[in-house]
Amino acid sequence: MSKNGKLLFRNYDPYITSPFGYRINPVSGVRALHAGVDYGTNDKNIPTYGIDNGVVVKTGFQKALGNYVYVNYPKLNHGALYQHLDSIKVSKGEKVTKDTVIGITGATGEVTGIHLHFGWFPSSDVNKDWYSINFEDYEKYVFPMEIEVIGKPVIRDETKDQIEVIINNLYARNNPNGNILGYIKEGIYNILDSKVDGDYTWYKIDDNYWIAYTDTYAKLYKKKEEVEEKEEKEEPKEDLDNNNNNEDGKEDNDNNQEVVKKENIFIIIIRKIIEFLKKIFKN
Ligand SMILES: [Zn+2]
Repeated sequence: MSKNGKLLFRNYDPYITSPFGYRINPVSGVRALHAGVDYGTNDKNIPTYGIDNGVVVKTGFQKALGNYVYVNYPKLNHGALYQHLDSIKVSKGEKVTKDTVIGITGATGEVTGIHLHFGWFPSSDVNKDWYSINFEDYEKYVFPMEIEVIGKPVIRDETKDQIEVIINNLYARNNPNGNILGYIKEGIYNILDSKVDGDYTWYKIDDNYWIAYTDTYAKLYKKKEEVEEKEEKEEPKEDLDNNNNNEDGKEDNDNNQEVVKKENIFIIIIRKIIEFLKKIFKN
């Protein structure tokens, strides 16, 4: 069974006759990287299609590859190499879609039977020669339309460490450098954990989602409590001093209050005496 192979054919689910990876080459007998996925077609010459909107970069014939077509798929950020075609149905510079027949599968070049060898590589390698291309396993490729939006942004909370994602398709993985589970939207997420792994600091933003941080697509917010905690740690000393002062102060205050009370009584007595004398003086 193949995951991505069926996109290459119409009404046909191909089987993998040889996966991507190191193997003994069935023709040369040498152990080498099999730089593509071989899809069997039941020994039939059937059409193979474009898998997205793209442009034909190159077509031709080469001893090992047979009839071949290179197509760039910019939206997928990948280029593709269709090999061993019986015939080529597109030409260089032609725009292709999912409805375009790229060629008819065949057994041209160094092969043991009819199949489509499908190479898959980053678009940046599309104009490099075969030996310089960093081929990838097409079966492991995750199409953008397959990727789910996961994780829910939260509101800014100054009591929590948070990360704000400022782009809309940041990959979320099950572990630092782990498998891509989907992508997350712009927004603020709580930081549950962090780990440095490889070139990045990774932040856990959900039970199962980790994202890599760079300042080009995220901002970090430290919780405010940390600052307050530091102040609190320093405060107790001051508090002790203040308490001592306060204790002294309280005594002083008490004394003062007594003085005030005494003064008040004294003033009242003097006022009464004055009033009394005024009355006497008037009389
Ligand atoms: Zn192959």
